[in-house]
Amino acid sequence: MALSSASCVFMALVFSLPPFTAHAVDRNYQKTIELSNPALWEAMPAWLSNPSTNYVVTPIEGSGGLRFTVSSGGMKWRHILSESLDTGKAPYLTVRYRAEKISSIDSYFVYIGASSGGMSKYEAMPILLDDLECDGIIHEITVAVPQINVSVLAIQLLSEVCGAYIDIQEMSFSCTPPPKLKLTNLLNISKGWTAAEEFKPISFVPNASARDWLNSLRFEDAWFQHPEVMIEGIPFHVMVNDPNVQASSMHDDDAILVDINSTAGTVYLFGGAEFIGTQSPSLGSGLIRAVEEVDRFLIEIDYADGIKDLVFPIRLSSGKNEIVERPAIYVVRPTRLEVINTLAVIDKMQQGRFFLAGITIVPDMPRQADICVQDTNALNIATDVRKGSICSTSIGILVDEETMSLCSLINRHSQTEWLEVPSPIVEYVSDATVDTTLHTTIAKNGEIEISVRFVNKSAEPLALKPTFPVIRGLSPSTNGSELRYCFPQSGAIIGESPVRLRRQYGGLFPLQFVDVYHPEAGGIYVRTHDAGNNEKTFWLEKDTKIALGVDYPEQTIAPGETLALPTAVIGAHQGDWHDALDAYRRWVSTWYRPVVPRKEWFRKIFNFRQVFLHYNSAIGSNGVFDHTKSEYRFNEEINNSIAAFGKVDYIHVFDWGFDPQQGRVGDYKPWSYLGGLAHFREEILRLRGSGIPVGLYFEGYMLDSKSTVAKEHGQQWQLLNDKSEPYSSRSDRYYVCPHVEEWQAYLSRTVERVCKETTADGYYLDQFGFNYQYPCHNETHGHPVPSSQIQGEAEMLCRVRNALPAEKVLYTEETPTDVSSQYQDGSFTYAISRARKTFMPVALNLTRFALPDFKTFEIIICDRPLLDDYDAVKQVFFNGEGIWLEGPLSEPQWFTDGLCDLISKTHAILCEHSDAFGSDRPVPLVGTLNPFIFANKFPVENKTVWTLYNSSYSTVRGYLLEVEHSPEAIYYDLWNNMPIEGKNTGERRLLNIEIGPRDVGCVMKSS
Ligand SMILES: [Zn+2]
Repeated sequence: MALSSASCVFMALVFSLPPFTAHAVDRNYQKTIELSNPALWEAMPAWLSNPSTNYVVTPIEGSGGLRFTVSSGGMKWRHILSESLDTGKAPYLTVRYRAEKISSIDSYFVYIGASSGGMSKYEAMPILLDDLECDGIIHEITVAVPQINVSVLAIQLLSEVCGAYIDIQEMSFSCTPPPKLKLTNLLNISKGWTAAEEFKPISFVPNASARDWLNSLRFEDAWFQHPEVMIEGIPFHVMVNDPNVQASSMHDDDAILVDINSTAGTVYLFGGAEFIGTQSPSLGSGLIRAVEEVDRFLIEIDYADGIKDLVFPIRLSSGKNEIVERPAIYVVRPTRLEVINTLAVIDKMQQGRFFLAGITIVPDMPRQADICVQDTNALNIATDVRKGSICSTSIGILVDEETMSLCSLINRHSQTEWLEVPSPIVEYVSDATVDTTLHTTIAKNGEIEISVRFVNKSAEPLALKPTFPVIRGLSPSTNGSELRYCFPQSGAIIGESPVRLRRQYGGLFPLQFVDVYHPEAGGIYVRTHDAGNNEKTFWLEKDTKIALGVDYPEQTIAPGETLALPTAVIGAHQGDWHDALDAYRRWVSTWYRPVVPRKEWFRKIFNFRQVFLHYNSAIGSNGVFDHTKSEYRFNEEINNSIAAFGKVDYIHVFDWGFDPQQGRVGDYKPWSYLGGLAHFREEILRLRGSGIPVGLYFEGYMLDSKSTVAKEHGQQWQLLNDKSEPYSSRSDRYYVCPHVEEWQAYLSRTVERVCKETTADGYYLDQFGFNYQYPCHNETHGHPVPSSQIQGEAEMLCRVRNALPAEKVLYTEETPTDVSSQYQDGSFTYAISRARKTFMPVALNLTRFALPDFKTFEIIICDRPLLDDYDAVKQVFFNGEGIWLEGPLSEPQWFTDGLCDLISKTHAILCEHSDAFGSDRPVPLVGTLNPFIFANKFPVENKTVWTLYNSSYSTVRGYLLEVEHSPEAIYYDLWNNMPIEGKNTGERRLLNIEIGPRDVGCVMKSS
């Protein structure tokens, strides 16, 4: 079988067309955007929160147009039009492009605006990054734009990896809607079957007309004239007369069933879909344009022997697991060469239906070279955890203190030299040459500790921006392709792709190490030993070798003074990144002392429910307090939550502090508005009595202008930005600085008072933990300008923690630094939400494993429905964490029934095995026997639980996990509620497990 090679396929995509405009349209009006001069596209790094440092615009040789390139982070380029353009006269924007490796996320690709200064009142984002096809093939996209007098146009690229680009060959506005497409515009179609011996076209019973489908796409509705056709080199039997396709139901669960009665190495489907409405908020934005979720669409293959495969197809032209609306060929690979009775197209989507127009099988196994699908879901990131003990012979380094460089870096476990040429170990930016001394010692455990001191021997203050440590050119071999790294940012990145990563220590990077490793040569890690919460940024860059380092902000050294940075540690290990994590945890155990003991009851909370007392405009729903009757309806809320989620473990009250006179945050004395403190306290006591602890919300940064405290101190305590302006231009609020001693005293006293008044179990500081949002430039606060929020928040947390009884819990919006985490019991976190936006095949909150008694609750999306985001719930379960649940259950658009069932199921397992999920030595990503299967291990005495995740788009079955065997052990599949078959190999046991595509599993060994 040979597939016709996909030549340059032009694909046009038309979204909503504008209504007929009343004013006359000039039929000849067309405006082509200048794409020959890179200088007309100005990079605007200040428009992004995380701009790339590596971006360029270059002319495309030969075909004209411009190539925009970016790596790690993003860039926006502004183009100011030489004369403004009225899109009322030219309402269609067409872009012809070719792109690769762009992150498809909820943000614009093309922006148009009426003014050039940035955000404009008249603006639109007609094409999103999500809309781009990043397959290296030329595409054309045409969209309708609203009427704007456009004077500025911007484009944006975002990427996590190196090598991302977009070639823009044409960008034009015109009054002519694109012509209706024909099937032959999209697909190579020919009449009759040629060289089709290997294929077996299958017939099925049609129930719908292709015309409906083509009309919904605004295609010409001309259908096939001959039943025997070749499409993209594959013979199909299509039906000529109506009805001619099989369609599933638009709103209800449905299936299209086809009899196969043959073996099949490959199944080709010719079909498409129709989607309505907008994407689930946590999965994307705008209209649904493609489906890639296994809980919306799947192929079920029923074998004659009773076994079933679930497979999500690959679109042939893109090589991606996705279903699009327009006609396309899809490939399905059954996992077994057994007789298939039936194949079912399963439609579990409420906002779409699927069309099947043709199906052809290849009864034999496919040849290896027939289809080349890039599968990025298997990464060699989880090898077996080898115990590389770190001894004094583990590492050998040679430091040249004269040149401040590292001349040799030898991993003695593997006898490998990691530096081909010397690397600097410290770098700085300064106007002067600074007197610098290095001090190197070997620690008892074999790690190398390096300290650095900068002395200002001049008579003037000296500004210095240091990077320490830094290592450049790390690699044990000349072939860098297998060189890997672990960058434990929030939503960890572990991989081998070329990459540029940079994260500020704090909520985005809570730990203090980075690891580089190689399958044959072990690894090298770098750690900082910073107990003082210093502001710093960890970074790692890989092209063929790896460079890594820690940047500190600019600081000034007074004449005669010395600046010492936190000690840097370099270690070597035998195995993979797990050794660096173990070394980090050993170091943490030498100093980590939570201010008060961690609470077992808090660690056992998994369904964390956010509740409102009053109407909330962000989520558009009433709260549980009926002000007219002065009644609380917590019971109703809890009963509904139990019915939906199986159980609710904790109630977190968001807006209890609200009072119409004083506002929501600031004074926290709403008692008369709430019908008396005693009434509120009784509710808390009652809830606690029924086994549900209650937590109360406090704002860490914001004061309502109406509050007494804001009137008295808002002006004086407020944060100022680098323009010495308040962070919010709104007059109804102040953002105040955590360094201000009076604010620390006020908030800690207030929390203490509310605790005495209410006896609530938990206390929450909103916006705390990120540590980067509001550097303070207020000169009157007495802190360095700008200030590091990290230290200010740490001081505040310490005071609040000390004001509370030890049995109460304190938590924040994000997991703070490892050092600050000692002052609190846990936090919300966006780690999984962040990880899902990276190239990682599985989301990992590494901090949850590094600091296991620090409790985390994953926020997938805030103030928007979770709806049918099954994958999010699965990833939270895989990490063994709690989930933050928000949204009214009375409104069906917040959670689908299926999602509620999944939350109930995961919750039941997490609760029943809360001892294991509360393990103090959990191991992330232990080795498995299949590269698509990831496993986390949660061991306690006499029991070990593993959570599993299948990152592939097909059922995986067989011996997936190898564990240490003990004769009395019992193995049980907790996900499917059945014993596990297995076989022993010596001291080990192989566990036979089946996991569906993009699905989770959970197994237990108990003795
Ligand atoms: Zn300040």
